[in-house]
Amino acid sequence: MRILIFLILFILVSIFLPKNELIKEAKADSYVPSGNKNLYVRVVLANFSNASFSGVTPGEMSSQMFYSYDSVRSFYNEESYGKVSITGDVYGWFNLPAKQSCDAESVFDQAVAAAGISVSSISGSSPVVVVAPFGPSYCGWVGYSSLSRNLIAVTTTNPNFVATIAHELGHTLGLAHASFYNCDNRMLFSIQNCIVEEYGDDYDVMGSGSVKMVHMDAVHKEFAGWFNSSNIQAVANSGQYFLESIENTSSKTKAIKINRGDGQYFYLEYRQPTGFDRNLDSQQIFGGVLIHLAPNHSSKSYLINPLSPSQATNPALPVGRFFSDPVSGITIAPAYQTNSGIYVDITFPSAQALTSYSLPSQFATGDLVSDQGTVYWIVGRNKIAFTSAGLFSSLGFSWGSVKNGDVSNYQEMEKLMVNTKNSRHPIGAWVKYGNTIYYSHESGLIPVPSWEVFLSNGGSLDKTFNANQTDVNLIKKSYNLKILESNDYRIYK
Ligand SMILES: [Zn+2]
Repeated sequence: MRILIFLILFILVSIFLPKNELIKEAKADSYVPSGNKNLYVRVVLANFSNASFSGVTPGEMSSQMFYSYDSVRSFYNEESYGKVSITGDVYGWFNLPAKQSCDAESVFDQAVAAAGISVSSISGSSPVVVVAPFGPSYCGWVGYSSLSRNLIAVTTTNPNFVATIAHELGHTLGLAHASFYNCDNRMLFSIQNCIVEEYGDDYDVMGSGSVKMVHMDAVHKEFAGWFNSSNIQAVANSGQYFLESIENTSSKTKAIKINRGDGQYFYLEYRQPTGFDRNLDSQQIFGGVLIHLAPNHSSKSYLINPLSPSQATNPALPVGRFFSDPVSGITIAPAYQTNSGIYVDITFPSAQALTSYSLPSQFATGDLVSDQGTVYWIVGRNKIAFTSAGLFSSLGFSWGSVKNGDVSNYQEMEKLMVNTKNSRHPIGAWVKYGNTIYYSHESGLIPVPSWEVFLSNGGSLDKTFNANQTDVNLIKKSYNLKILESNDYRIYK
């Protein structure tokens, strides 16, 4: 038996984040996710002496929290597969003595007193939510959560405040935010290499999905203890795997977890417009696999967009496309969809299958691809642009070898752009000077000692070009480079 004890440390969220909320967390809190959880939620409706809100009656609030088909209670029931049960009461409206402010803590004290709630009855399983027209101007948050006081406050100036309550209750259950790795078109996907957009996941109520109640992702569901053991599958071997859509209760696989080897796991899930996920706006995500990264059993998740790493929109990897992770060498390729789920090919680098993997949108190092009027030289997951047709020809490239294609998911290497007639041949090319062939590498031009070594490294004469003066100068500077070996590690794959 495994006992997991997690220290939840929430980040104090600054006001300029796109989704505005404040988590006040003076002390670290420990939470043992058990899956099954009963929450008794008391909602206090409070007006200020000089500002009031009349947009919802206590009866309507009660319905939206506990009784309607799309209530917060049904939301948690569905998304926890019946493991989280919410009951509660609504109090108010009360006219507090306080003037309108953003001081959630003191408003909380007055609201609890007005409702006659004893402070000792408030706990992690019995939080109190204060709904009030906090203001008058923007408070820097739309939801406020103090885990040490089990206080949640939401402002009625946010029209989606009920969904914000659902988000804050996620914190009560120990969950952190659903973030997005903005990787500026690099595919490295880690905190070190990317900008973390704290609320950047639009497809999780713990991210900016909180404007509507939509399902949490597989990382959060695993952490919360909502999956049964058959719902999450750890994959370590190449093969084709089935993922059922995540929304409904069943015993099938709803999440695939793959160790990336960098302290993070890939979590794959499949979403469909059913249940509360009908609230999702994007059609794109229903056509593929959503990929998150997170440490093992993490309360916080990071969405990635394998097709366009700097954009959180349209992040699903659709059938027919693939993601080849430059860090682990793992390739993820959705193969086909059915009504209930999606089949995904997962290939690990040690397997023979990786080298023979063929997919329509994949380009190899040394391919020339024309995308929207620009010709690129492909090197691994990167592309090098030619800025003019004249340069392209002057370097010995031929138009007959150019393919048309979409290389938007390749990283542009601007430093290596071929932009003058004095540009060297791009990295990954073979360059001939005198009787020797060289391999063009970031470190210089590496001499190739024999025809066998040339072939073993994938060399071919139609990707070999005559050296220009810049290459020759570089060859002279590259005298200290180790000559190329068979299957050399420096070859760009
Ligand atoms: Zn939050």
